[in-house]
Amino acid sequence: MRVLVTGGAGYIGSHTARKLAAAGHEVVIFDNLLYGHRSAAGKIPLVVEDLIDRDKLTATLLENKIEAVIHFAAFAQVGESVTNPSIYYNNNICGTISLLDAMRAADVGRIVFSSTCATYGIPASSPIDETFPQAPINPYGFSKLAIEHALQDYSQAYGIAYAALRYFNAAGASPQGDIGEDHTPESHLIPVVLQVALGQRKAISIFGTDYPTEDGTCVRDYIHVDDLADAHLLAMEKITPENSLQLNLGTGRGSSVQEIVEACREVTGHEIPTELSPRRAGDPPALVANPSLARKILDWQPKYLDVRETIETAWRWHQSHPQGFAD
Ligand code: UDP
Repeated sequence: MRVLVTGGAGYIGSHTARKLAAAGHEVVIFDNLLYGHRSAAGKIPLVVEDLIDRDKLTATLLENKIEAVIHFAAFAQVGESVTNPSIYYNNNICGTISLLDAMRAADVGRIVFSSTCATYGIPASSPIDETFPQAPINPYGFSKLAIEHALQDYSQAYGIAYAALRYFNAAGASPQGDIGEDHTPESHLIPVVLQVALGQRKAISIFGTDYPTEDGTCVRDYIHVDDLADAHLLAMEKITPENSLQLNLGTGRGSSVQEIVEACREVTGHEIPTELSPRRAGDPPALVANPSLARKILDWQPKYLDVRETIETAWRWHQSHPQGFAD
């Protein structure tokens, strides 16, 4: 298929764009490079524009005869969404509506959307399946849930086929070690811990040690970025206007913050000092996916079920690119 990947110069987008190209799809990346990196796009054609420019989007879709869109471009920091909701509502909601209307104008009827487990808010229990109520507790989660609703309405009214893929914690890097996670500033647990191993930080702050979990630290489900990418390809091929999908993507296994630090010590051989810090606002104690539906419907098998293997790929990337992408 001819596929437009918005946010394809970003973390999950670049891994997915590469997989699409390797599978024989014709790929075009659309990215404003606010957070994306030109070199993450590799040799894939890159259009540097913003989603809010609907005319540019429509022209890009028509010129490239695009048949499907995989939509990653969004702001994705929970804390920032609380302090500056305007950019989340504008970029994540208005930007996506602009994209959906450009798709209508260009007669593109297929979209895979990056949603999130943050749409579940603080779930009553874990693992979480797709029937759990969606009740986000921050503007980031709201912005993603709003688009899930818009997709449902656009699908019904205009016959768009869609998949809303609710990711748990994306982690790891391409095993080749040439693309990986590079956020400025970095806030995600695994890259921050690896920055300690690289000597770029003195210690890792553990945000909260009094959660109702086995060791008192938060539990998350770390899913390898290439496994996420595989699920996007499968979902893109599977959806029809009559059969849209809402799926959780995770491993089904939880790791506590303390366990992640321990796994990073094993992988890097570095002692990685920790310091205990207060809880971070808005962090639910445990978020672990029940990924059975995705496994069944997509015939999807995550390859990285041991978080150490995921961390090894991240470590390879961070060691070879201690300052991230050159650009
Ligand atoms: N975390 C931490 N120290 C850090 C960064 C994150 O203790 O420097 C914790 C955070 O509170 C959460 C977990 O690690 O419980 C994963 O956080 P991350 O920001 O990677 O992903 P999130 O779950 O917020 O999407």
